[in-house]
Amino acid sequence: SPQQQQKQKGLVDLMAEASTYYQKQLKLNTAAVEYMKNRGLSGEIAQAYGVGYSKKSWDAAIKHLSSRYRQEQIVESGIAIAKDEGGSYDRYRDRIMFPIRNRKGQVIGFGGRVMGDDTPKYINSPETPLFHKSNELYGLYEARQATRKLERIIVVEGYMDVISLAQFGITYGVATLGTATTQQHIEILYRTVPEIIFCFDGDRAGKEAAWRALDNTLPVLRDDKAIHFMFLPDGEDPDSLVRSIGKEAFEESFSSATPLSAYFIEALSAKFNITQNEGKAQFLNEASTLLKKVPESQLKDLILQDIAKLTGVDRKSILKGKQDVAEQET
Ligand code: ATP
Ligand code: MN
Ligand code: MN
Ligand code: MN
Repeated sequence: SPQQQQKQKGLVDLMAEASTYYQKQLKLNTAAVEYMKNRGLSGEIAQAYGVGYSKKSWDAAIKHLSSRYRQEQIVESGIAIAKDEGGSYDRYRDRIMFPIRNRKGQVIGFGGRVMGDDTPKYINSPETPLFHKSNELYGLYEARQATRKLERIIVVEGYMDVISLAQFGITYGVATLGTATTQQHIEILYRTVPEIIFCFDGDRAGKEAAWRALDNTLPVLRDDKAIHFMFLPDGEDPDSLVRSIGKEAFEESFSSATPLSAYFIEALSAKFNITQNEGKAQFLNEASTLLKKVPESQLKDLILQDIAKLTGVDRKSILKGKQDVAEQET
């Protein structure tokens, strides 16, 4: 409706104003500038990603914005949090601010990082009329700005991973925002590139994120797209790794990234003892449950073929067996 559009427009203006304000604050705060330097980030890269700083204050951002915007709007934008007793306070205080942009380049949210060891390490935008985290990829706008025709996108976990890769000239990183990779994320990436490389942290959480990304990718698998998984050494993330090995070695390691089909079979078969029939049966049971989500495709057939080879079970009965069980259950 026109009213909703009006409201969205107001919020877009507010967020742009907030972002400009945070960027100015960064230049005025020595500790924040120092923090960026210590993390190896140049002024240019900070500028390109619009990095800012939120002052150590309960109302500095609110005060700045309230000359042009109403209290409820500032709360609705996520910049302020309403108090139960009335009034509101700044959500982000004494944090490095990463603006999240939509595909038009409009700022729709922020992530804020503490400079020390306080918790939470990051505060992300709440869901707002502008910001829906399951639909947004941090860095996608900047990646599209940097390269006319993108050939691949690397999906990482964090803001710092995206920016640090860009600092090293790998300007095609995007991050999901403290959330699992969704089907919507993948569909957005499909519209942009033929190849997606998932590269999550080399810790437990990162491995779990990879498996969840695979799971969410299955229903939208397509033969005309390639999906790979890059697994980092334990304790490394893309930021730390590119810093230690550099751009070339980092990009070279893409060539040894695991294709989705191989990751599927490797990860699943590792869960069971497939040298025994019982383990094989469990493996087949889980594999068929997952493969049922996959649309008919050459890739699906090829995965089935590999599973048949691995287990000695006829390719056609891999999916069929499970169906019979499902029928009995209902
Ligand atoms: P840094 O290098 O600055 O420590 P990071 O990106 O490596 O940051 P991780 O702990 O690996 O930090 O987290 C990955 C991403 O998950 C973050 O960039 C952020 O988007 C999200 N995240 C992490 N911790 C939180 C939190 N406490 N609340 C919300 N989101 C978080
Ligand atoms: Mn991590
Ligand atoms: Mn990390
Ligand atoms: Mn990190």
